Formats: sequence, structure tokens, C-alpha cells
Amino acid sequence: MQSFEFVRAQDASAAVAASARSNTAQQGASVRFVAGGTTLLDLMKLNVERPLQVVDINRLPLDKIEPLPDGGLKIGATVRNADLAHDPIVQRDYAVLSQALLAGASAQLRNMATTGGNLLQRTRCMYFRDTSMPCNKREPGTGCSAIGGANRTLAILGTSEYCIATNPSDMNVAMAVLEATIHVQGVKGVRSIPFTDFHVLPGNTPQRETVLEPGDLITHVTLPPAPPGSRSFYLKLRDRASYEFALASAAVVVTVADGKVARARMALGGVGTKPWRSTEAESLLTGQLVGDPAFRRAADAALRDAKPQSQNGFKVELAKRCLVYALKQATQSA
Ligand SMILES: Cc1cc2nc3c(=O)[nH]c(=O)nc-3n(C[C@H](O)[C@H](O)[C@H](O)COP(=O)(O)OP(=O)(O)OC[C@H]3O[C@@H](n4cnc5c(N)ncnc54)[C@H](O)[C@@H]3O)c2cc1C
Ligand code: SF4
Repeated sequence: MQSFEFVRAQDASAAVAASARSNTAQQGASVRFVAGGTTLLDLMKLNVERPLQVVDINRLPLDKIEPLPDGGLKIGATVRNADLAHDPIVQRDYAVLSQALLAGASAQLRNMATTGGNLLQRTRCMYFRDTSMPCNKREPGTGCSAIGGANRTLAILGTSEYCIATNPSDMNVAMAVLEATIHVQGVKGVRSIPFTDFHVLPGNTPQRETVLEPGDLITHVTLPPAPPGSRSFYLKLRDRASYEFALASAAVVVTVADGKVARARMALGGVGTKPWRSTEAESLLTGQLVGDPAFRRAADAALRDAKPQSQNGFKVELAKRCLVYALKQATQSA
């Protein structure tokens, strides 16, 4: 591991200033914030991340979950995944978020992992974590070992000829259907980013995964009020029942009126290079009678643009069935 300077930030402005100053001097990659450390420290030990300075944000006052006057929720960036999953308001109004968080990692990891860190967790593509192998995301221009290599767990949606890595987060899939907003403090001030705009497709710059700029600190995430009468569900399918990343997952929020779908939000995990919300599937399902035929049509639409690789063609049908099952669960007694 490369040696680094450790700085403990006393407030958000100081954290941003420290990070931005050093990042500008060192072309953008030399400073990292550390929250739970469950992604960053692993990657530093593997020499995949090599920051010269690590800014600890754990003492910043960003660890609260607070109801908003409009009925929504404000979630601080350093709120632990376990605390968020077990929060009574989250369990009551945003069940899909609680379910997604509890489907992720292990109890020990969830006790450390934070909201901000989870949003920015890196791919589990094995070549990304192996510095002896070419990888465009880790070292732009070296090639993609996964195309034609071991790609069973990788993405089928949003891929490019430069990278097919999956966004591995469970929480992100729930955040997509809850239409979260991410709030950031940067050198130029504060700004808010709708969740769908936060992660970017790999294109020919797979090293860039979000719209964040050097020095940007995620301060909190807000959720709008849960739509009246809506029901939600998260389903994760994986090789073993726990402590495993998704091969396919689905998050849904659905409102039913008179036996028909009045409103639907749907997103897939484990199959996309970013958390994969399908507005096409949502539009198709809205106004339809609740039931398998409409759910299946929506699932077909969500996977229409899938481009499987040599080993992950099974994900197309798996993701469709995952979405159909999640929709059934969410509408079961509605
Ligand atoms: C063995 C193992 C199994 C796992 N299984 C799953 C799983 O099944 N599902 C799943 O979803 N996840 C899984 N994870 C990933 C885990 O959820 C993430 O590692 C965790 O959420 C990251 O949060 P953190 O606070 O530890 O991030 P850190 O490691 O502290 O940070 C991650 C990145 O985010 C940046 N960062 C952190 N906070 C901020 C902020 N406020 N503003 C700007 N940048 C910030 C850091 O600089 C770093 O680049 C697993 C991890 C491990 C190690
Ligand atoms: S899929 Fe992306 S992360 Fe994996 S080897 Fe290819 S470029 Fe690297």
C-alpha cells in the first residue's frame, strides 16, 4: 500500500477545501474522503486506489436521519447502512430501502458502511481489483479484460466497448425508485443532483462513474414523501443466500387503484453499469390491470436493450423474472 497523509476534517468546508486543494495540485486522484472505509481501504490495500491524502469525514455532523416538513426524509451522508435500514420511518414509508440495505453485505459491514460511501462503492469486476490485468476503469486506455474474459457477473445494460462493469450496490437500486436527491458541497458551493443524473454510463471514460467533481462532498440525501397508498418491494437474486452481490435485483414502488396500476417506479440492480431505472417499463405498466401479463410486458421492455456477454446471457431472463416477482409481491394484497 502506498503511504498517505491522514487528515481528520473538523467541518464540511474544511473537508472540501483540503480535498479540492490537493486534488487540483495532483490532477484529481490524490485525495479521498473516508467514511466507513469498507470500499476504500480494501482498494488501497490492493493498490487500486492510491491516494496521497485521506480525509476522515466521520466526525462531521452528517449522521442524522430527519423527517422533512413536506413529509420527506433527510439522510446524512455518514448515516450507517444498519441505522438507516432499521429506522422506523424508513421501515414504514420506504420499505424498499430498508429491504435493499438488509440484502447487502453482512451485519458487520452494514454497521460501518455509510450512505455516501454506498452511493460511491466501486465495481466488483475482478479485473478492476487485480493490478496485473488490463482494465480501462482502473487504468484508462489499457483495455477491458472482462470482454471475452470472466464476465458472468457483469452488466448487460448500459455497457460500452470500453467497460461492462456492474454497479454493485443494492441501496442504489432502491434510491432510484424512491427518486432520491443527492446533496453535495463543493468548491463552488452547494448543489442538488437528482438520483437518475448522479451515476453516468461508462462510454469511453469508464474511470468516471458519477457527476461529482474533485473535492465534492456528499452531505446528505433527501427522499420525497412516499406516494399515498404506494407499496414497495426489493428482491435480490444471487449465487448464495447472504453475503453475496446480486446477479439480478429489482426495486419497485407501485400504487394500485381499482385493480389497475396507477403509478409505478421500477429499477434493476446487478445487470446495469449504473442503477437501472426503466421509465419505459414504468409508462407501459401505468394504467394496466394488475397481473402477470402486464408485469411480463413491462419486464420485456426493461430488458429490451440488453447486450449480454459470453457468460451472462442468463441474466436477461433472470432479471425479467426478478422484476415480475417483485411486482407481484408489491401488489399482492393491494
Ligand atoms: C465483503 C463485502 C461484501 C459486500 N457486499 C455488498 C452487497 O451485497 N451489496 C452492496 O450493496 N454492497 C456490498 N458491499 C459494499 C458496501 O456496501 C460498501 O463497501 C459500503 O457501502 C461503502 O460505504 P463506506 O462508508 O464504507 O465507504 P468508504 O469505503 O468510506 O468510501 C467509498 C468511496 O466513497 C467516497 N466517499 C465516502 N463518503 C463520501 C462522501 N460523503 N462524499 C464524497 N465521497 C465519499 C470515498 O472517498 C470512497 O471513494 C460489500 C462490501 C464488502 C467489503
Ligand atoms: S469491465 Fe470495466 S472494470 Fe472490468 S475489466 Fe473491463 S474496464 Fe475494467
